[in-house]
Amino acid sequence: MSPAAGASYPPSLKDEESERLVEVVKDWTVGNGLAVRPPPAIVSAEADPRGVLATSVPVTLFPSPFPKVCFEQAKAVQTAYNELYARISQDEEFITQVTRDVIGGDDFIESLWSVHVKVQKEGYVQPISLGLFRSDYMVHQEMGVAEGQEQSVPQIKQVEFNTIASSFGGLSSRTSALHKFLAATEYPLLESVAGQGPYDLPENTSTQGLAAGLQAAYKTYGNSELGHQTCVIFLVQGGERNIFDQRHLEYELQRSSNAPVFRLPFSKILQQTSIADTPKRQLLYRLPSNPSKVFEAAVVYLRAGYGPGDYPNTADWDARYHVERSNAIKCPTVLTQLAGAKKVQQVLATPKPSSQPAELGRFIQEGSKDFQEIWQTFTNIYPMDTSEAGLAARKLALDPEQCQKYVLKPQREGGGNNFYRSAIPPYLKSIPESHWGSYILMELITPPPVTNIILRNGELEQGGVICELGRYGACVWNQKTKEILYNEDAGYLLRTKGDQSEEGGVAAGFGCMDSVNLV
Ligand code: ADP
Ligand code: MG
Ligand code: MG
Repeated sequence: MSPAAGASYPPSLKDEESERLVEVVKDWTVGNGLAVRPPPAIVSAEADPRGVLATSVPVTLFPSPFPKVCFEQAKAVQTAYNELYARISQDEEFITQVTRDVIGGDDFIESLWSVHVKVQKEGYVQPISLGLFRSDYMVHQEMGVAEGQEQSVPQIKQVEFNTIASSFGGLSSRTSALHKFLAATEYPLLESVAGQGPYDLPENTSTQGLAAGLQAAYKTYGNSELGHQTCVIFLVQGGERNIFDQRHLEYELQRSSNAPVFRLPFSKILQQTSIADTPKRQLLYRLPSNPSKVFEAAVVYLRAGYGPGDYPNTADWDARYHVERSNAIKCPTVLTQLAGAKKVQQVLATPKPSSQPAELGRFIQEGSKDFQEIWQTFTNIYPMDTSEAGLAARKLALDPEQCQKYVLKPQREGGGNNFYRSAIPPYLKSIPESHWGSYILMELITPPPVTNIILRNGELEQGGVICELGRYGACVWNQKTKEILYNEDAGYLLRTKGDQSEEGGVAAGFGCMDSVNLV
């Protein structure tokens, strides 16, 4: 282990040292766009009526120690994961089956599904799909190793796989750059020996990697047959605070490809776009500031539409249908969004009786290197339906002691939707039993303890933290011919939360940005 990762990591700072570090981080973050719009708790709408203010993203003062073997494991398996989720998206029969299992207790998934069914009936016009994915993991290390024995090798276990609106790629490469800057300038000035490295801080090209995926899809679309200029649309939520994360992708895409990028609020789709009256159904975007200017949308990148909150009215479902049936390349399509459902993750991971092949074998040849590497990242996940495995899981979930080892998840994205440990039995009892099948029960991963210092809204929080590693991937494929046209790893995310918090969303307010110091 490097000194930086020893027992006294991060170093205990003198007051003057932490004051200096805070000053440096406050300036670097804003100076380099590692920023968000301030939360209302910090700056009220009255104090900033024109929305001109930006502030530092919550961030750790030091990169968190992270096992190198685990970091490499996640990196090595990413393109196999990209291909897996492209294959799942292409397998309509599989998605139909899995979706049917959860639809009874989940109106949102049912509505999404009906968008796909409607477009399927009239026929999709665009066979190309773009996936900007993020596979999330925590470090798992076998406990209970007898004293004197060597510790077992840590492994990554997958928390979830995101196929829609995988965020923070625009900020993550900057967080790595911040820690690299501090390691070169500030850490060597600290008195504590433990703070002086060496640091092993890998390159992180998340912004470039995701923008390159968008660019690949944009190029694949080709020129407009209607003679318009083509563009990329970022479909976004109104009042987005995590705006710079998205803007960095936009700036990088513009820099690398010259593609015009327009931000379109999800609620304005029907007002600001139309579908050409042609067999190809091109999606046309009219610039609100100059409606005579019409662009053809080559790629629609969804940073909205992943949860029920974006669909308050039936018109919002009409809008999703409008995009889905158009010729624009969607990132993601409804099918790919559904492929990212936690139910899919459960079906892939639930062990079958030894006589039956694993469901993963439907997509990747059993026994192959990719199969083994992906399989190793799975932890136990169970259905909550009325199958034999489901009934056994229900028993675990309802047992006041057994439930301590589990998290119950609905088919939702964006954080704040899960039920942990003791909260599981009362929650299950509060909903109709006929809805239980639309949840999954997952074993909690308990990573080894790490300590760090978080700078949030100008204040320092020091203590035990839990780190979650995300690995980004970009993939372009043809749904019809099943050809994979582009498949690349796209950098990483390290998100860290206090060890007292169950959820870790940065935007949701309890997590923060971090980077890895490989040990
Ligand atoms: P979402 O799609 O809403 O982000 P996640 O499955 O990622 O849902 O769960 C949200 C958070 O809950 C994760 O970031 C992680 O902090 C925690 N979590 C989820 N599953 C597990 C697990 N199996 N073990 C430990 N923590 C988990
Ligand atoms: Mg998610
Ligand atoms: Mg998550």
